[in-house]
Amino acid sequence: MDKQEVRQKIESLVDRLNKYAHEYYVLDTPSVPDAEYDKLFNELVQLEGEHPDLVLEHSPTKRVGGEPLEGFEKVEHEIPMLSLGNAFDEQDLRDFHRRVTNGLNEEVVYICELKIDGLAIALTYEAGQFVLGSTRGDGRVGENITSNLRTVRSVPLTIPEKRKVEVRGEAYMPHESFVKLNELREKNGEMLFANPRNAAAGSLRQLDPRIAATRNLDLFLFGYGVWELDDIPTHSERLTYLTDLGFKINKEWKKCHSIEEVIEYVTYWTENRRSLSYEIDGIVIKVDDLSQQKKLGFTARTPRWAIAYKFPATEAVTTIEDVELSVGRTGVVTPTAILKPVFIDGSTVGRATLHNADQIRALDIRIGDTIIIKKAGDIIPKVVRVIKEERSGDEEPYEMPTHCPACDSELVHLDDEVALRCMNPNCPAQLKEGLIHFVSRDAMNIDGLGEKVIEQLFREQLVNSIDDIYRLEKEQLLPLERMGEKSATNLIQAIETSKNNSLEKLIFGLGIRHIGAKAAQILAGEFETMESLQQATYDKLVSIDEIGEKMADAVVHYFALEKVSTLLNDLRELGVNMTYLGNRRTTDETSGELIFANKTVVLTGKLEKLTRREAKEFIEANGGKVTGSVSKNTDLVIAGEAAGSKYDQAKKLEITIWDESQLEEAIKGVST
Ligand code: NAD
Repeated sequence: MDKQEVRQKIESLVDRLNKYAHEYYVLDTPSVPDAEYDKLFNELVQLEGEHPDLVLEHSPTKRVGGEPLEGFEKVEHEIPMLSLGNAFDEQDLRDFHRRVTNGLNEEVVYICELKIDGLAIALTYEAGQFVLGSTRGDGRVGENITSNLRTVRSVPLTIPEKRKVEVRGEAYMPHESFVKLNELREKNGEMLFANPRNAAAGSLRQLDPRIAATRNLDLFLFGYGVWELDDIPTHSERLTYLTDLGFKINKEWKKCHSIEEVIEYVTYWTENRRSLSYEIDGIVIKVDDLSQQKKLGFTARTPRWAIAYKFPATEAVTTIEDVELSVGRTGVVTPTAILKPVFIDGSTVGRATLHNADQIRALDIRIGDTIIIKKAGDIIPKVVRVIKEERSGDEEPYEMPTHCPACDSELVHLDDEVALRCMNPNCPAQLKEGLIHFVSRDAMNIDGLGEKVIEQLFREQLVNSIDDIYRLEKEQLLPLERMGEKSATNLIQAIETSKNNSLEKLIFGLGIRHIGAKAAQILAGEFETMESLQQATYDKLVSIDEIGEKMADAVVHYFALEKVSTLLNDLRELGVNMTYLGNRRTTDETSGELIFANKTVVLTGKLEKLTRREAKEFIEANGGKVTGSVSKNTDLVIAGEAAGSKYDQAKKLEITIWDESQLEEAIKGVST
């Protein structure tokens, strides 16, 4: 880039960042994810570092926060309220540690604290009374929000200390209050808050304290400005002292004697932050010794003795390159956005679900659009919003097709459904998805028969419907891609094993509309055999708890189909179990008691015919308790293949040991 280009780039970054900061700090409605802001901010820091002569007066790197809101009395902070430098990975933390130790040339102790995601506030006490509460504002001047802060229960109105002190912290909205508030706002047709931080900020900056009082806000204190109290030399001792004065300090803070310990703390909370009832967006690491803090000093907007580690973002900005359609096993056609790959929270994301045509329309998604995507848990990322300001005019609106992308049948909306469906029962995409569902974990759970293998079997026409799976022979599998002798043998064995599954797995695997894994379990428990389920009437079905009208209707319709009875006959002939094993109650012939009554049982090793869960269910249904380790309280150990130390322990303690065939005998035993 030549100088002119750098200048332009800096100007554009400054304008964008200032706009985003205004939306975030002043309006409480951010338009881009924090990670995007941080990325652009760091880009600007780097350019300014390389070209100090081009730094603009109004650059966000020279300022903290946003300007105070009109309508509030302004408060000038006696000591500025600064922001914090950021760290995004282990390397950044180690760099921070290096800067600190280089600056001090002596041992350092750190205090790690949770970084509460809320609004920075300061509380001033004089003569033991709470006299002033303010926001950080732009760091120099904040807003007087005393009346609002008085409504927060954890703000002490008096303290047992007459000298002046200003404590600083973060006001936040607990998860539960946030969810309730947004539910209420949705009901009232009001705009929803994007996250608890914005909700807390919006609530505390209400001109009417009665509104703030209804918002169930809370706060944690972690710092101080004016301090006319005794000169306590470390941050940790000050935290303890403030706690003693009655201030609410988050109790998770920890003293760390090395950067390794700091990293351990960061790792722990990265994994466990969801267990908290409030949002944290990172960890703050501070030098404990105040004289060392003083020695390290400040930059224009951040202290050099502290840093904020930010958790990996769950939202990111990218572009939509295309829209792909997939046909599910029930014929529903689902659009998926193909994205320019972007790294979020540990993995690269290239697809996001778009749900249906209504969603595409509601979000006004066009191919070429710049969008925000969010990754939540393991679920496929979803598109949150289009950044319309980024449009060049070349983006193309997307129209849902009128015909099935797999078989070209006309697509329809059923009973006012939003979803578009392909109604062709022989649609190859639906058949293939049905097979994938049949072998999946909660259904027949056939190990080694994943999506890729099914696709090949389907393509090679070796499997066209469910029953074909049970006709497969090893020789047919061998020519498939990445299928060796061993995996073919294992697969045939897994298919064989699945024949012994309890009835509910088969019912679920059939993919009857509206019948999920739980309903399948209920039906299997109620009817016990496929035969009696096939004959069940609508009235009988709806009389069962938790089986609704739609489900009953779907079951009756399904079993009335001729091809279904043919399929079930074929499966029966092929040796697939059609009875319920889970809840069969087996009694001991002599005592008349359930066979595992009051027995503590341990399962160990690999069972061939049953899954662990099925064995556990069976034992529990027959009065037993299944525990994880062998002790003198264990009554019975059931040992499958390759049983290890638990087996040895059972031998040592002379506990009765069964092999799998004895368990099978019990299952087949006298049932009541
Ligand atoms: P910051 O959030 O990165 O860190 C500083 C703040 O952390 C402090 O002011 C304090 O209020 C808070 N904090 C929480 N717990 C703390 C603890 N235990 N000890 C010390 N401080 C603690 O900095 P900031 O200046 O408040 O905000 C900058 C950040 O805001 C950016 O990094 C960005 O993520 C976000 N932002 C987003 C947008 C957007 O458009 N999405 C715009 C502007 C800023």
